[in-house]
Amino acid sequence: MKLLQALRNISKFRTVFDFGEREVAHWFPGHMAKGIRQMRASLKNVDCIVEIHDARMPFSGRNPLFQETLDVRPHLLILNKMDLADLSNKERILRTLKKSGVRNVLFTDCLKQRDDNIKKLVPMVVEIIESQPRFNRDESTSYCLMVIGVPNVGKSSLINSLRRTNLKKGRASRVGGEPGITRAVLTKIQVCERPVIHLLDTPGVLPPKIESVETGMKLALCGTILDHLVGEDVIADYLLYSLNRLEKFSYVEKYDLQEPSDDIQNVLKRIAIKLKKTQRVTAITGVGNIAVTIPNYTAAANDFIRAFRKGELGQVMLD
Ligand code: GDP
Repeated sequence: MKLLQALRNISKFRTVFDFGEREVAHWFPGHMAKGIRQMRASLKNVDCIVEIHDARMPFSGRNPLFQETLDVRPHLLILNKMDLADLSNKERILRTLKKSGVRNVLFTDCLKQRDDNIKKLVPMVVEIIESQPRFNRDESTSYCLMVIGVPNVGKSSLINSLRRTNLKKGRASRVGGEPGITRAVLTKIQVCERPVIHLLDTPGVLPPKIESVETGMKLALCGTILDHLVGEDVIADYLLYSLNRLEKFSYVEKYDLQEPSDDIQNVLKRIAIKLKKTQRVTAITGVGNIAVTIPNYTAAANDFIRAFRKGELGQVMLD
């Protein structure tokens, strides 16, 4: 019975998303080019790049610029926000990444107070660095890491999490600031004693690589592109399309719908009613003014997107 219902549901959903005439050009904020230039300068002294990306989209949106424009350096890919990702097919993810040359991968949840995976980061990095000949600063016995990634994937959270995990009181210390100079100039923190490993305090912000409108939409859904640049209404519709495609139907119960629906107007209406996000307006008719209640679609769309980003609509794999 359930299977029949599921089949009926699947056949009524869209199998492709209509992006209309949308273009991705204006989703790329120009000021990020400056960031890349600055990053390139600091990367000279970096022994291992710790690239972080959203585990819900392990293949798309990552910017390979740093690999292309710099010498290929030891590299670890962190797939963060694993708590929000459907990782039931981790093997497929690792296999696909390996094919594109990404061999060192770690899944993390940076919001967790104690994430065992975060603890693995330093030993992994040491192994990665020590298994390759060093191309710079051969005589140096300390290592330096830099966290990079597109906006909002958790770069600052990872740095904080590494601090929490590795900076035990009375042991490793922060470095980089000179006595008498303001604390704001601190640029490096020590995260390991043997060998000595430092982490650049400021992460490198990369612009996302938006190779198609669909990638742009995934990035927007994960909060990497400002919502208003893409449009909340279309993000909400793409979210609904994705949830249905992935058969993640918890929104039905959450918002008191009768059944899964592929019609965003209908779903937003239900959400607005459920959350009491409605407006009373006066309509002028031939027989006098009447008060009507209309749903606030924008407020409903924002709530729908926020709920997804908090993981309230289930774990997903967008790639
Ligand atoms: P940055 O822009 O790359 O530095 O990203 P932030 O560290 O500021 O994190 C962006 C948002 O993602 C914040 O709201 C964090 O609380 C959230 N975040 C970071 N890591 C995780 C994670 O592992 N899981 C979840 N659910 N949220 C996370």
